Amino acid sequence: MRDHLIIFDTTLRDGEQSPGASMTKEEKVRIARHLERMGVDVIEAGFPAASNGDFEAVKAVADAVKDSVVCGLARAIETDINRAGEALRGANAARIHTFIATSPIHMKNKLRMSPEQVIEQAVKAIKWARQYTDNVEFSPEDAGRSEIGFLCRVLEAVIDAGAKTVNIPDTVGYTMPEQFGLLIRTLRERIPNSDRVIFSVHCHNDLGLAVANSLSAVMNGARQVECTINGLGERAGNAALEEIVMAVRTRQDYFPCDTRIDTTHIVPASKLVSGITGFPVQPNKAIVGANAFAHESGIHQDGVLKHRETYEIMRAEDVGWGANKLLLGKHSGRNAFRSRLKELGIELESEEMLNTMFMRFKDLADKKHEIFDEDLHALVSDEVHTPEEHFRLLSLVAHSETGEVPFARVVIADGSNECHAESEGSGPVDATYRAIEKILNSGAELQLFSVNNITSGTDAQGEVTVRLQKSGRIVNGHGADTDIVVASAKAYLSAYNKLYSKLERAHPQV
Ligand SMILES: [Zn+2]
Repeated sequence: MRDHLIIFDTTLRDGEQSPGASMTKEEKVRIARHLERMGVDVIEAGFPAASNGDFEAVKAVADAVKDSVVCGLARAIETDINRAGEALRGANAARIHTFIATSPIHMKNKLRMSPEQVIEQAVKAIKWARQYTDNVEFSPEDAGRSEIGFLCRVLEAVIDAGAKTVNIPDTVGYTMPEQFGLLIRTLRERIPNSDRVIFSVHCHNDLGLAVANSLSAVMNGARQVECTINGLGERAGNAALEEIVMAVRTRQDYFPCDTRIDTTHIVPASKLVSGITGFPVQPNKAIVGANAFAHESGIHQDGVLKHRETYEIMRAEDVGWGANKLLLGKHSGRNAFRSRLKELGIELESEEMLNTMFMRFKDLADKKHEIFDEDLHALVSDEVHTPEEHFRLLSLVAHSETGEVPFARVVIADGSNECHAESEGSGPVDATYRAIEKILNSGAELQLFSVNNITSGTDAQGEVTVRLQKSGRIVNGHGADTDIVVASAKAYLSAYNKLYSKLERAHPQV
């Protein structure tokens, strides 16, 4: 019997903390549903005490997800733990993840507590959290700079108090794989009650070693890895879920454990997260990069054609490349549409919503012959990203011709009013944005503009992500269309609607 390696995904918490990656409640739920279908064991949904927005998002994920444990983060203080407990009330299986700093520098300067007080506080927090759930995880923050003897005492005390998982973070991404593996081994050997808990690791990628450090810990007895889709996360990010899972799966001769992840959901998960956050995946990224399975060199191609295992250690289809099967087309009916959405984990609030979406789907199918899963995600994103669509694009004319100055004419609904504007620009998108700004007068700063094709082919939908900043608030907007100028206009308005409705965004700070 192989050990089970628990996959703890923190895309919605640590991943969301990367600047500009904040997600709405609906987006978090959509990603959580995908993670659940993939077989992720634990989904860390957020930090409920950080803001009302974060509380609501964790609550929505807890209510929606049934097959994965849903986890909320809390500092080792009663009020934080209460917020987490409340947010997780609707979960089938809930976990509270509580943490306190254990390094001399943090204890002295940040917490202003003695080491004894820190132990006492940690124990109190575990017991307090256990009022809400038996499934309590503890992290000693800044473990890497903590004194090993003290770390052992804290961990022994929290295990006695009933913690089921102890998580060792490499918060600043400083350790080397051998060192980190040795740390895990030492803790397991020196802590007398260490056999009563699962050891977990949480590694950051500042030196590009997050995955290596995590795997080294696994070889030394860690049985939970905290990771994120695409390695999303603060600074250089976290360990990438797809790399951890595929390393362990591909090298079953080496690792004494395996995960229960259905790997065919990996690439769709990567695309979903990249689409929602607007963070593109680099082409040479392991597993999920566009080139990860492309063999360019003639020698390689020849080898792969003759016998795939010569150069391929994994099969593209096993991680979900090509899983975007052609499923719907122009002649697909409402039921086929509805059931495909359901399979994708997309639940629409009402029958009316389904009708609207179905009409949009038919429109799209007229312009584009083949509709892939990604198209459906984009279609739904377009519709539900912005709960209150105060400003809507009614029509757009954009003109570009070599040798001529591009111009655009837009008509936008401002509530029930129709506003018209036109402008010239350096290109059709620039002209469109200038025209839109004549109406909105937002004063927002455009921080990011990116275009991705959702599927391949020149009739593919372009998905545009726009990031706007105004008075310290950062919002992302998305728009998809077979015409990228239209997609650009939609993305801009989607971002501006978020600014306009002052939709609260979760900005947890740990
Ligand atoms: Zn982290």
